[in-house]
Amino acid sequence: MTKYIFVTGGVLSSVGKGVAAASIAKMLQVRGFYVTAIKIDPYLNVDAGTMNPYMHGEVFVTEDGGETDLDLGWYERFLDLNMSKDHYITTGQIYGEVIQKERQGDYLGKCVQIVPHITDEIKRRIRRVAEKTRAEIVLTEIGGTTGDIEGLPFLEAIRQLRLEEGYLNTLFVHVALVPVLETTKEQKTKPLQHSVNELRRIGIQPDIVISRCSTMVEPEAQRKIALFANVEERSVFCSPTIPNIYELPLTFDRQGMGEYLCERLGLPKQKPAWNGWLKVVEDLSKPTVELKIALCGKYAKLADSYISINEALKHAGGSFRVSVKMDWIETEIFEEDLSKLSILNGYNGILTPPGFGVRGTEGKIAAIKHAREQNIPFLGICFGFQMAVVEFARNVCGLEKANSTENDPQTPHPVLDLLPEQKNVQLKGGTMRLGAQEVRIEPKTLAHKLYKSSLVRKRHRHRFEVNPKYWPILEEGGLLLSGKSSDGKRVEICEYPRNLFHMGVQFHPEFESRPGKPEPVYRGFIEACLRRKQGGG
Ligand code: GLN
Repeated sequence: MTKYIFVTGGVLSSVGKGVAAASIAKMLQVRGFYVTAIKIDPYLNVDAGTMNPYMHGEVFVTEDGGETDLDLGWYERFLDLNMSKDHYITTGQIYGEVIQKERQGDYLGKCVQIVPHITDEIKRRIRRVAEKTRAEIVLTEIGGTTGDIEGLPFLEAIRQLRLEEGYLNTLFVHVALVPVLETTKEQKTKPLQHSVNELRRIGIQPDIVISRCSTMVEPEAQRKIALFANVEERSVFCSPTIPNIYELPLTFDRQGMGEYLCERLGLPKQKPAWNGWLKVVEDLSKPTVELKIALCGKYAKLADSYISINEALKHAGGSFRVSVKMDWIETEIFEEDLSKLSILNGYNGILTPPGFGVRGTEGKIAAIKHAREQNIPFLGICFGFQMAVVEFARNVCGLEKANSTENDPQTPHPVLDLLPEQKNVQLKGGTMRLGAQEVRIEPKTLAHKLYKSSLVRKRHRHRFEVNPKYWPILEEGGLLLSGKSSDGKRVEICEYPRNLFHMGVQFHPEFESRPGKPEPVYRGFIEACLRRKQGGG
């Protein structure tokens, strides 16, 4: 019998519900249970691929090519498990399926309604994950905030699931913000009380309340929450702001949440095996050196836009006990004034991130040129890799005005062009080259040294690729095309062996990085940054 945990959020979004959900799952995993997680995103988009990462956060790509919410990244990083498309459910998918069935005549003679048809489809998808994965515990996080119109059908569905699966097999967790007043430093529980009330009005009584607060919630406030939320005092927990996010499962467990979860779900009491995780947390918590990395791209107000890259750099830093400070550098500043490139000399490494569209591109290319000429460790990811190829074509191979046709469809030297299978693609949703694809690595290259393998599978999300017509010119110039797709038709990795570390990858290694298991390319990059720093760079 599968146990279902549902996590809802209140007061505000972005209160760390995803990390709290991942931490709950982790506490159960270290107790020996097979746990998996689902994210529900109540948007009408079918997937996150068509959302704006500067508003919704990064698009997390799963192995099977799902373009999903960034919380799946937290589940993967905390549980060290690969999620699939099935673990990401949106309103768009649910309605799309029900409407398709209606047209097929599956409901002939019936009025198709939110209850039961939409709610049935939601429940079917949650249960499908339980069946496919055979997980003992399926945790489902419902995005957004309680009270949102969009979220209602999902809340109704989980209310029904409680009835169908039984009290002992279902558990509701509510995570809500407890703000602290600036003037009096008082912790205010009223907004949380309101959001619990809202849930109860819908028919859901939370079993656990987690207050998200900048500090630990005082016992007095805790008691108040219990009383108003109609829960026992021992089922009120706190998620305080902590410097190392990977410590959250331990913070929860110390408060007794792990034990409480098991008791409430009728799971056998198991001693948690925290050893491996404690080492991970410690490596990330006690840095001996700080590295400064410049992320040269479009300015992103939302820190969540490149979260997997941030985390991958942190994980790589952890294995050398160094902390990584990432500064965003808006590359448009280099377009206005090239002398500003000297800012980059203050960094131990430069990274150009994935991206779309032309804004800031010339500045990115200038930053990559600077990295190459000054021998500053450089890593280009996806669009960042593509721009490293453009830079090389222009400044080393002498192909003036070389470009990607994404930036300049009229370029005389289209060193990057649409993938052949992309030329006739009309629909934008879910049509990029997506998910894990094989990458063959040439022997005796840096890439081979890092991966210690001739064949890896890496996650992708792109439409453009290095134009095969230009491969010989690039190689003659000294750019090593050290990784190709398994059919040999596209470039996956380039490196410039004359530098300490100058590498670009068409794929997204950050999606596979896990704390304690850094992704080899990120690890190699950080190692080179460290070497440069120690060499006085
Ligand atoms: N815009 C580029 C492409 O579509 C790169 C995409 C990316 O960086 N994810 O190929």
